Amino acid sequence: MDGKHADLHLHTNFSDSTFTPAEVVLQAGSVGISTLAITDHDTTAGIQPAIDTGSKLNIEIIPGIELTSSIKEDEVHILGYFINRQDGWFQARLNKLSQARLERLSEMVKTLNRAGIILTAEEVLEITGNPASVGRMHVALALLHKKIVSSAEEAFQKFLRKGCPAYVGVESFGLSPSDSIQIIRKAKGIPVLAHPKVTGKDDYIPEFIKDGLMGIEVYHSEHSQSVARHYRSLAEKYNLLITGGSDCHGLGKGKILSGSVKLPYVFVERLRQAHEKIIYETGAGIGKTGVGQS
Ligand code: AMP
Ligand code: ZN
Ligand code: FE
Ligand code: FE
Repeated sequence: MDGKHADLHLHTNFSDSTFTPAEVVLQAGSVGISTLAITDHDTTAGIQPAIDTGSKLNIEIIPGIELTSSIKEDEVHILGYFINRQDGWFQARLNKLSQARLERLSEMVKTLNRAGIILTAEEVLEITGNPASVGRMHVALALLHKKIVSSAEEAFQKFLRKGCPAYVGVESFGLSPSDSIQIIRKAKGIPVLAHPKVTGKDDYIPEFIKDGLMGIEVYHSEHSQSVARHYRSLAEKYNLLITGGSDCHGLGKGKILSGSVKLPYVFVERLRQAHEKIIYETGAGIGKTGVGQS
């Protein structure tokens, strides 16, 4: 393929990938990705270590996040690109999410215990290296480590997906998609609807746009070509930015997905231009003074 390519959806072991930030960058680089976004669930802790590795390998790192939100018991993930992660209020909100995730972990473990499975929250954290953002994948990996299941996928099928005994929703995190969109906008980022096919509720999209959504993840490792065509036409209809990424979780999803989506660089340029426009319009740009510098 000609030109530069990006992968705008990658997790690290600060959330639920089995790869460290350095491994994520090395792996993506080895499959021909020259720009990548770190988009951990509800934490930005993996970004700086990725930047450190990226600068040595000449790989561009875009700061990102994937905020977990819910609407009517449906989990909706909102990606945020070019977020200003240094903002104190932003980190305070992420700390609350981290706490809510720990409480949810206790709930999940209690349900598993009731089903006769011997597991503690401390064990989950220890086995998975004490992530900043703990979730279902960590429980799956702990069950795998203890040989209760033979793959993380099996843990999801038997225990952790919606409708299963140990499923605990994310309503307690207290974020609607609208809240997530607003948080990302306030942090001067670009809010993008993650893997819309996985969420499977296109009816919400016009509402999200009214709330300030600016983009849609057209290309994703779980989107077939026809699915991608569908969301591309939605993006054109609503004048949304187009993004794409592998959603690689290291070995967590059974295989390494980075390289499965190679987004042409022109989409990164459009995303960056949208971000620069926000910065300019909110007063941090040339010719305006005093505000928006935090
Ligand atoms: P959580 O944020 O704790 O609700 O976990 C959501 C994450 O779980 C997703 O980002 C995926 O990494 C993982 N996940 C959800 N469903 C599955 C599945 N069926 N197989 C593998 N991983 C899954
Ligand atoms: Zn995940
Ligand atoms: Fe997601
Ligand atoms: Fe993801």
